[in-house]
Amino acid sequence: MMAFLRLLARNRLAAFGGIVLLLLLLLALITPWLPLLDPDVTDPANRLQTPFSAGHPLGTDALGRDILSRLLWGTRVSLAVGIAASLVAALVGSLIGIVAGYFGGRTDNLLMRGIDMLMAFPYILLALAIVAVLGPGLMNALYAIAIVNIPFFARNIRGVTVGIAHREFIDAARLSGKGNLRILSSEILPNVLPIIVVTLSTTVGWMILETAGLSFLGLGAQPPQADLGSMLGEGRRMMINAPHVAMLPGLAIFILVMSINLLGDGVRDALDPRLKSGALSRPAPITRIRRGAAPPGDGRQGRADGLLAVDDLRTDFEVGRTTYHAVNGVSFAIGANECLGLVGESGSGKSVTALSLMGLVASPPGVITGGRVWLGGRDLLALPPRGIRRLRGREVAYVFQDPLSTLHPLIRVGDQLVEAIRQHQPLSRPAARELAVSLLDRVRIPNAQRRADQYPHELSGGMRQRVGIAMALANDPELIIADEPTTALDVTVQAQILALIQRLRTEKGTSVLFITHDFGVVSQICDRVAVMYAGRIVEIGPTAEILETPRHPYTRRLIDCVPRLGEPDNEPEAIPGLPPAADALPRGCAFADRCDLVEPACRQGEIELIATDAERRVRCIKPLGIPTAASQGESR
Ligand code: ADP
Ligand code: MG
Repeated sequence: MMAFLRLLARNRLAAFGGIVLLLLLLLALITPWLPLLDPDVTDPANRLQTPFSAGHPLGTDALGRDILSRLLWGTRVSLAVGIAASLVAALVGSLIGIVAGYFGGRTDNLLMRGIDMLMAFPYILLALAIVAVLGPGLMNALYAIAIVNIPFFARNIRGVTVGIAHREFIDAARLSGKGNLRILSSEILPNVLPIIVVTLSTTVGWMILETAGLSFLGLGAQPPQADLGSMLGEGRRMMINAPHVAMLPGLAIFILVMSINLLGDGVRDALDPRLKSGALSRPAPITRIRRGAAPPGDGRQGRADGLLAVDDLRTDFEVGRTTYHAVNGVSFAIGANECLGLVGESGSGKSVTALSLMGLVASPPGVITGGRVWLGGRDLLALPPRGIRRLRGREVAYVFQDPLSTLHPLIRVGDQLVEAIRQHQPLSRPAARELAVSLLDRVRIPNAQRRADQYPHELSGGMRQRVGIAMALANDPELIIADEPTTALDVTVQAQILALIQRLRTEKGTSVLFITHDFGVVSQICDRVAVMYAGRIVEIGPTAEILETPRHPYTRRLIDCVPRLGEPDNEPEAIPGLPPAADALPRGCAFADRCDLVEPACRQGEIELIATDAERRVRCIKPLGIPTAASQGESR
């Protein structure tokens, strides 16, 4: 709740609307106790006085009634009727929507056709017809407005309910034996409640206007009672000689509705969970970069053939007042035609590292707070957005984990490829199409010509991932970043995809950054491997050597987690405990709490990545299989 209010307050317009509305509500509440003249007492001798006249700060109307008093009492009536009508419409409409959406089938049909019947009439005409039947009067205007707004809620809420009624968590609730009523109240309602509140907050203003409209026509508030609409209606006749009689209630309606709408928009934004994490704005197309002083050197770390060199990369997520350090000073390099594996448990920062390279981390909340990314001699983090965009998909391409969610569901795969090609190459449509088919061929999709005309859902998971790879290859990139490209696939398809990537490397000389949590996969395709833990690289070196003699206890435990075929005695061993939270990383070694070799020195200070063998580095004070300086000293 506090977080919600804080978010709301950060939106200036919404806060302004909220304050104005609050003042108006307060004024409406205390109206009976204010020293006002009776709003209904006529005084023909003093009719049509202008504002600022003695005794009548806002003047009088055609019957000599005090406008200030009528305005305040009228606002009170308009607010009460508008809000009451909205609540009734929201309650009844949402109930219909939830029931129709949840039960579906005949119930849905029956309820929604009824709603359709309400919607078949122009909506203000329907309200007029209802009041005509019930007779003019404030209460009847309220009913009419509530009824004509029911379809609005019913349709909205039904749509949302249909969307979640068949989601897995509802099935799970059903499997746990919950009845329909329990599911509706404890699973569905909390999920649609924000939508109801948002719809409500954006319609209250309308309903107040509609009530005023009915009163303006003489169908709502009856004389002598005032509401803003009827005051406007009465003032209309003397617009020329006494404009203030109509202008003042008009102004009041304007301020009231505007404040409600501003607040409503703010509420909608603040309730959107995607906006909860940061400022009230959608993520920018490029990650925000806030680097301190640039680190010295060209960042190539002495690798002459370096294609990509990452130097001390740091990426944080700033959510409210908490800062999550997802990537804490990661450095690595990838040479031409090299495949570097990036391994680690889920949440260790692999994906964020990969996304940071091309500024693809959502910002807010993501911020790159330090480091350099060198690609062919340029610092990518210093490039302007246009420059980065030109590189994306051309020199560096991504393959993501879930091929279904990365392909556009409504566009044929061939057309998606054509689009990817033409984004960077000046080809005609037919030429691009030809290239697209040959790409599908290259990733071994049988019958590519026909497949190109199919939609993503018509392909199997393995084939979709091939399309994903074909798309990455579209512009002959120098580097492919593959983020767990085989995790969603079964082992046979995984083997095919790995073979495909391997073949592309030998044919095209492409470099690959291959992210995975599986050492089995790493051993098949990576030349070198970097092991990540809590946003840092804890060990890096040639794959064969690391698999043979892991130097970091974490690497050893990770390797032990992989079951080995034909060795039933060699039971895979889970690593006890959990990685540390990214907003509260411990001093010293982040793995210390889970390490069976931990000693006090591990927790004392920063632990550097030290070179142990020619090509290997490890972030441990007592690397496995290496006599440390301290123990050498003891043994002497
Ligand atoms: P993985 O190694 O499994 O790919 P990620 O790189 O996706 O892990 O995530 C690294 C850390 O960053 C995790 O602790 C995760 O909770 C955090 N993180 C990722 N995205 C966000 C986000 N949008 N907001 C806050 N934290 C995030
Ligand atoms: Mg990931």
